[in-house]
Amino acid sequence: MSLIVQKFGGTSVGTTERIKAVADKIIGFRQQGHSLVIVLSAMSGETNRLIGLAKEMQIEPDARELDVLVSTGEQVTIALLCMALKARGQEARSYTGAQVRILTDNAYTKARIQEIDVERMRADLDQGMVVVVAGFQGVDEDGNITTLGRGGSDTTGVALAAALKADECQIYTDVDGVYTTDPRVVERAKRLDRITFEEMLEMASLGSKVLQIRSVEFAGKYNVPLRVLSSFSDGPGTLITLDEDNSNMEQALVSGIAFNRDEAKLSIRGVPDQPGVASRILSPIGEANIEVDVIVQNVAADNTNDITFTVNRAEMSKAKAILQAVAEELGAREVVADNTVVKVSVVGMGMRSHAGVASKMFKALASENINIEMITTSEIKISVIINEKYLELAVRSLHAAFGLDK
Ligand code: ASP
Ligand code: MG
Repeated sequence: MSLIVQKFGGTSVGTTERIKAVADKIIGFRQQGHSLVIVLSAMSGETNRLIGLAKEMQIEPDARELDVLVSTGEQVTIALLCMALKARGQEARSYTGAQVRILTDNAYTKARIQEIDVERMRADLDQGMVVVVAGFQGVDEDGNITTLGRGGSDTTGVALAAALKADECQIYTDVDGVYTTDPRVVERAKRLDRITFEEMLEMASLGSKVLQIRSVEFAGKYNVPLRVLSSFSDGPGTLITLDEDNSNMEQALVSGIAFNRDEAKLSIRGVPDQPGVASRILSPIGEANIEVDVIVQNVAADNTNDITFTVNRAEMSKAKAILQAVAEELGAREVVADNTVVKVSVVGMGMRSHAGVASKMFKALASENINIEMITTSEIKISVIINEKYLELAVRSLHAAFGLDK
């Protein structure tokens, strides 16, 4: 018998039929004797529909009113699920974020949870009720409704699990777990039984968009065991935890191959090789709120530098314009932008204690004649920037080279 927080995403509650299927699933867990707190998203497409309505009223909708509006999506699904549970003889009670009192700061549309009042939920659980909470929303100190950012229901789930000291937080979604890479790119990708928080963060930030990144950070911080599973099929899913899997003596060197198609590369060439130059180039980019990812500097024989970095593709033109202004001030030779690059990364805790991952990676890419344009490493990740036309080939060959093929 355990206390489990289960979050069901938008596709799992996309129709009344699906909500009934979720109710049936919950009844099954109750019959196994578990205490359950359920967190729901809005019906799939609903949040986008509401944002669309808002934009018909105001080009940039007022953030406070937008939160009042978009938080209604989750209020619909929690009530419907409770009705379905009651129709099946299971006592249940729904709560909006404000009713629970999920206290957040007042940053509308991207609020952060500060505190959760667990008293009412505990009392209901003690009476054998299923508690159903609206994801994605909270309330600030002054009673204003806030929302947590797109995909925020995952974070609600993890935060409730942390506050209630639940045994596990289960995220039910339309995939049956976290894969070694995107199965649409590599057919032989396989579901991982477990992955660490750190690995998941590297995979998630690189485009394996299974979970909202913030929810994984939150789970890691409070050490909440997090499991990703399918709402539509049975199976153990993928467990995300703090521990490396010590039961497996021959731990995989690499757990997964991640990639990001949204990269663009910018170079400023022929800048003076002097202290402060990198800062003069990158500060205005940061001030414009453009996130810089991989950075490389080469020193040329004539005592000038080339500095190259990557940004999100959508921000390339903006970054290029800023860079051109800086280039003029510094008397740089030229600015070049390229929006045909992608990032491919190998991720794994195993590389902490084993050498040779980089050379194996580069060898695999070389054997396919793939040119590496930039390289960056962290403790558990090695990333390369390559031309987009090699993306599939690179991911497939790395997946095979690191023994991840099914
Ligand atoms: N309904 C919200 C969204 O679409 C929150 C969520 O689904 O997690 O972003
Ligand atoms: Mg979601």
